[in-house]
Amino acid sequence: MIRLAIQKSGRLSDDSIKLIRECGISFLSASSKLKTEATNFPLEILFLRDDDIPGYVADGVADIGIVGQNVLVEEGLQQLSVKNLGFSKCRLSLAVSKGAEYGDITSLEGKSIATSYPNLLQEYLTSKGVQADIHTISGSVEIAPSIGLADAVCDIVSSGSTLISNGLREVETVFKSEAVLIANQNLDAEKNKLLKQLLFRMEAVQRAQKSKYVVLNAPNDSIPAIKNLLPGIKSPTVIPLAEEGWSSLHSVVNEDDFWEIIQKLKEAGAEGILVVPIEKMIG
Ligand code: ATP
Ligand code: MG
Repeated sequence: MIRLAIQKSGRLSDDSIKLIRECGISFLSASSKLKTEATNFPLEILFLRDDDIPGYVADGVADIGIVGQNVLVEEGLQQLSVKNLGFSKCRLSLAVSKGAEYGDITSLEGKSIATSYPNLLQEYLTSKGVQADIHTISGSVEIAPSIGLADAVCDIVSSGSTLISNGLREVETVFKSEAVLIANQNLDAEKNKLLKQLLFRMEAVQRAQKSKYVVLNAPNDSIPAIKNLLPGIKSPTVIPLAEEGWSSLHSVVNEDDFWEIIQKLKEAGAEGILVVPIEKMIG
């Protein structure tokens, strides 16, 4: 049995649960429960405050966990990181009052900055050769300038709307973050095997999310040109259509190149292009 710690309720929770379910693991998740067992995989899930997850995994109370890189690195436990998960993307940014004068980071020399991330902030300021007075507070950081607690804030931002609604202006990115899978560094052989199985499933899910299955029809003489556009996993499947001189091609394309490829396929003579999501993709 391997023990996984995820956030009980917050911005990591839904996507963490979704990822586990997409790995084919079923469990009951009553919101009042702090612990549950999967029904079809030797996995126990603990629901915790996100700040506690790195420490619990480092101590071996939990074997593995899902947490934001911002919390992991702030706690000095980045060595536990095993895999980036691509969700809960955000950044730790410096912001000043909308009307405040700001040229570059040296504008903060000798100023006071409120944050819940004193270590990440200190490291950033040191790297820039700036000395400032860091006030560590645990929440509602964004109101600090308006109540006279600090000249600037250093806080988590995704869209930036919270900063704007508090009369703040984002001026520097201190740290970029996303959710990561972390693991205790002394797992026994049995738990290591379970971790490898989970990683294998997560990779299949991630690969599928980045890919689309494409089906199209084309006249036979345009097949060579289309083949070059559709590398597929090995090469595209070509199936003759009932109509003489036409074929159907099936392949997989990367989501990042998707629109560009579709455009070129049309130019090369493709018709009736179908694009289908992929559920799992095993390399
Ligand atoms: P807890 O009660 O578990 O301590 P919290 O209030 O500290 O929760 P959340 O606000 O739920 O934490 O954020 C959890 C993590 O989600 C953050 O540490 C960060 O990695 C990420 N995150 C925070 N804000 C955003 C956002 N606006 N968009 C995307 N991800 C975010
Ligand atoms: Mg927290």
